[in-house]
Amino acid sequence: MKITAVTVEVTSEPKAHPVRDAIQLLDRNGVTRVRIDTDEGISGVSTTYFGRVESSPAVLAKIVTDQLGPAIIGEDPAVIRGIRQQLQTLTDYQGTAGLSSYGISAIDQALWDLLGKSLDVPVWKLLGAQRTAIPSYAMVGWLELDVAGLERVSARAMEQGFRGVKMKVGGGPLTEDVQRIKAVRNVIGPDAPLMVDANQAFGYAEALRRGRVYEELDCRWFEEPLPAGDTDGHVRLAEKLDIPIATGENRYGQAAFRDLIARGGVGVVQPDLRRAGGLTDCLEIGLMAAGFGVPYASHGGGAHIHVLAALPNTIYVESGLLPAGVQLVDGCYPLPTGPGLSSWDG
Ligand SMILES: [Mg+2]
Repeated sequence: MKITAVTVEVTSEPKAHPVRDAIQLLDRNGVTRVRIDTDEGISGVSTTYFGRVESSPAVLAKIVTDQLGPAIIGEDPAVIRGIRQQLQTLTDYQGTAGLSSYGISAIDQALWDLLGKSLDVPVWKLLGAQRTAIPSYAMVGWLELDVAGLERVSARAMEQGFRGVKMKVGGGPLTEDVQRIKAVRNVIGPDAPLMVDANQAFGYAEALRRGRVYEELDCRWFEEPLPAGDTDGHVRLAEKLDIPIATGENRYGQAAFRDLIARGGVGVVQPDLRRAGGLTDCLEIGLMAAGFGVPYASHGGGAHIHVLAALPNTIYVESGLLPAGVQLVDGCYPLPTGPGLSSWDG
C-alpha cells in the first residue's frame, strides 16, 4: 500500500463558554483535520484541537500541506516509525518542537487510524492491550466558576460516575485555593481522588509553600506546579513534597521526558498527544516511565485512549463531563470498538 494524498481541513470558532486556568483564557475551538489516502482506497484521519489563538489551526494546516504531507507521498503507511524519523529529519532545521510536533503527531495519528482500518481492528488491539476499560476522572474545576459553580459541576461529575475530580488552582491567593478545594472535597466525599492543577503558574518557593497545603488537604496530585521545562525545579520539589508531582503536557518530544523521569522529577507523567509527537511517542514515553515505576495519566483523552489501554502503568484518562452517548462502567471509559482510532470525540 502507498500513500497517495494528504489533505487538510480547518475550522476555528469562538468557544461558547470560555474556560480559565491560572495562566490563560481558553476561548476558541480550533480544529485541524488531516486525512491520508492510499492507492488501495483506505484512508486514515486525525483531529488536532486548539483551545486558543484563532490562526493556529490554519498555520498547522500550512505546515502539513506544504511540508509534511508532500514528504510522505509514495511511502508505505504501515512504516509508522520510519515516517516519524523522516519527518523529524525534515523539520530539524526549523525546530521539531512547536507546530512541527503538532504536525508530526497529526500524521502519526492518521497513520495509526489507517493501519487499524486496513486490518479492521481498533488501534488498542494492535498495541497489545493491558486492559479493556480506563479509569477516568473529570477535569471540571475551572477558575471562571465561583464556589457554587464548582460545587455544581463536581456533583455532576460524580453523578456521571467519574472516580474523582480535578480542579484548577493558582488563580488567586492560597486562601482562595483552600476554600475552593474544601468546597469540592465536601461534594465528592472523603475517598474520591481530588487533583489540583496550577498550569505552570508558580515559582519554586511558592510551589513548595502551596504544595505543602495541597498535601495537607489530601489532594491526589499537584499538576504543573512549575514552568514545564524546569527539570531541576521539579526534581527539588519532588524531594520536598510527598504529594506526587504531575507534569508533561507542555513538554515537546520524547527526549524532553528522559531526564525528568530518570531524575525523579515527576510522580505522574502526563504527555500530550500533540506536543509529545503522537501515539507512537506517547507509547514510548509511557514505556520509559514504566521502566522507572512512574504512573501514566494522559493529558486529555480522545485518541490517547488507545495508548492508555496498552500501557502497563496507566492510572487515569482525563475527561470533561461525558459526551453524549458515552457511559462509564465502574468509573471507567469503555474502549472504542470500531476499526482504527474511532475515538469518542473524533
Ligand atoms: Mg493540566
